[in-house]
Amino acid sequence: MRKHNFTAGPAALPVEVLEEARDELLNFQNSGASVMEISHRSARFEAVLNHAEETLRELLSISKDYAVLFVQGGASLQFSVLAMNLSSGRSADYIITGLWSEKAFLAAQKIGGKARVAADSKKNNFTALPLQEDIRLDPHAAYLHLCTNETVHGVEIAPERIASVPMPIVADMSSHILSRAVDVSKFGMIYAGAQKNIGPSGLTLIIIQRDLLGLAELSVPALLDYAQLFENRSMINTPPTFSIYIAGLVLEWLKKKGLDVMEEENRQKAQKLYSTIDESGGFYLNRVEKSCRSKMNVPFFLRDETLNDLFLKESLEADLLGLKGHQSVGGFRASLYNAVSVQSVEVLCDFMQDFSRRHG
Ligand code: PMP
Repeated sequence: MRKHNFTAGPAALPVEVLEEARDELLNFQNSGASVMEISHRSARFEAVLNHAEETLRELLSISKDYAVLFVQGGASLQFSVLAMNLSSGRSADYIITGLWSEKAFLAAQKIGGKARVAADSKKNNFTALPLQEDIRLDPHAAYLHLCTNETVHGVEIAPERIASVPMPIVADMSSHILSRAVDVSKFGMIYAGAQKNIGPSGLTLIIIQRDLLGLAELSVPALLDYAQLFENRSMINTPPTFSIYIAGLVLEWLKKKGLDVMEEENRQKAQKLYSTIDESGGFYLNRVEKSCRSKMNVPFFLRDETLNDLFLKESLEADLLGLKGHQSVGGFRASLYNAVSVQSVEVLCDFMQDFSRRHG
């Protein structure tokens, strides 16, 4: 039996996708072999890659001015690699809104040491976004880096809140890409680890303005050079074929559903859970300012932390997976990615209400 999965990532995948992958696991498209067992240079796999890219382009209305790259090493490797590709010896601005944007900044600082903090919300313990007037941009910065959804702190920058700035915006969208429509043309580069809304781990997606290709210094290894990856269709070496295949199935699933329908479901799920927390009379707490609460990752705490172990034990008994909070902040967290159904969130909210009635 499949349980209600609120894990932060690798996370729940649509059951229809898992069933389809199961059905063709041993014999992919009558090839007599699994998709994992065929050459990445075969016409069959090329079609898989093209289909994944085309479906992504359609879902996010990505224009031909942007390249789509499929790479490995996770979003974390991109923290360094994007600095190697985009800095061109100049400094870069970072807005720090939580654990992941801080990691991106620290990694970029090691690459030439010219990353600079344009604003941070550390003094608020990352429970609010920096105010517009507190952001000090360097107009000569090579790019501005944002993490538009902080998976650990549960803070989201809604795409419509992003103002236009003189430099390209580079956004880590790992934990909310494809949860809603986004105007890609606002960004110089978007990147995301696949293991939340796209597919299995082992794959990282990059959407980059083609004008920004070719800026990497000669010393940057081919496998990390966006221009060379683009020229070689993300296949300088063997790509993670199975992850790309599953990503293609997930993207197709999302296309059938409709990104607008997905966005509305995600809004409903978040609204249900935040209401349960806010209407618990303080039994549950989420400290993030309402205007920037994440619709994908909802961290929460019990007022009485001595109940933590019991809450976790009972949640597991109720078939609710993955609610333990990130080690750096403690408490609990429910991740409400695309493959988590409204019904699963209702089960979670009912469980939380029942638990607070019994222990409040
Ligand atoms: N950025 C964000 C926003 C994340 O949530 C994560 C992983 N949870 C990462 C980067 C790092 O991703 P990876 O493990 O793929 O390197």
